[in-house]
Amino acid sequence: MIDTTVPFLDLGSMHAEVRDELDACWRRAVDGSDFIGGAEVTAFESAFAEYCDRSHAVGVANGTDALALALAALGVGPGDEVVVPTNTFVATAEAVCAVGAAPVFVDVEPSTLLVDADLLEEVIGDRTAAVIVVHLYGQMPDMASIEAVCAHHGLHLVEDAAQAHGATWRQRPAGSFGAAAAFSFYPGKNLGALGDGGAVVTDDESLAASIRSLANHGRSVDGGEDHRAVGGNSRLDAVQAAALSVKLRRLEEWNQRRRQVHDWYTDTLPDQVEQLDVPAESTAVHHLEVVQVDGRDRVRAELGARGIATGIHYPVPCHRLPAYRRFVRPGQSFPVAEVTGDRLLSLPMFPHLDRVQVETVAGALADVLDHASVT
Ligand SMILES: *Cc1c(COP(=O)(O)O)cnc(C)c1O
Repeated sequence: MIDTTVPFLDLGSMHAEVRDELDACWRRAVDGSDFIGGAEVTAFESAFAEYCDRSHAVGVANGTDALALALAALGVGPGDEVVVPTNTFVATAEAVCAVGAAPVFVDVEPSTLLVDADLLEEVIGDRTAAVIVVHLYGQMPDMASIEAVCAHHGLHLVEDAAQAHGATWRQRPAGSFGAAAAFSFYPGKNLGALGDGGAVVTDDESLAASIRSLANHGRSVDGGEDHRAVGGNSRLDAVQAAALSVKLRRLEEWNQRRRQVHDWYTDTLPDQVEQLDVPAESTAVHHLEVVQVDGRDRVRAELGARGIATGIHYPVPCHRLPAYRRFVRPGQSFPVAEVTGDRLLSLPMFPHLDRVQVETVAGALADVLDHASVT
């Protein structure tokens, strides 16, 4: 019998490629009793900074901390507002609240579902301190417009690049814009650790030093015990850093495979299924394959019944989440996020998805949608 089930995400084939190298990471860490910080972390930080075209990378415990530490080190705190797109993973807004500031939501563009740069001016006011741009689904928005708005108003620009390791906009990599950029190495991300991990990249040496200090109990960068700042604990493990160095060497190839998968979807998906636009200036790394389709809930259930796993990113936009509704301003509306919300569907996407699997997904979608048109 032919196996027609398609998983949403399968990291197995990826890890099989680098299995011996990953096993060696554990052995080295145990042999050297070197678990937190140290040479593995320093080596990964310099490789990752270079990959992002930045002078500094600071490894931290996860992507949410990376965002919050970047904001804190930039001096964003209570009384400040930070603009974030409503269509994002909740961690973007969470990080703003973690430093005591208030998120201000903006709507997204219909063709990419990324922040709409034209709407920024409407929400910027006296209290605005920063804009967090989210390279959602592995793609970057119009960075020239966003940079111009931030420069005009004197705002810090911070990138949430948790889904965009290796994406570019006009040939410049994600993470190379703005004051600082935050990455997550959660296992399912394009560059994933064997547990949690994150990093902040920046060109600003003193900002990097502040982040390193805040992430390590407020110690000075040389490890001194003077504790000039109230910090916390958000450090990258040596084992994670070693595994990330191994996987970073494969990232371009794996991102290229994701682009191939995306193109196969373009070739095979039925007309009723709309993919997002990839503007010419943008090289996407397709962290997720998000499409829009009418009758999403039924389609999703019927795909599930055929063994095809899908997701929704994200089922509820931030401005409607119970914990974040209070940040919506009177009279504010989010027509794009509201309308597209019920149509979003994330199809299986990972580097080792093969053409037959993509055809299975596309065929099942055609089947499910044809069936709907006759009833
Ligand atoms: C994953 C993710 C984060 C948070 O990263 P963690 O490592 O899970 O804390 C933040 N923003 C976006 C857009 C993400 O996808």
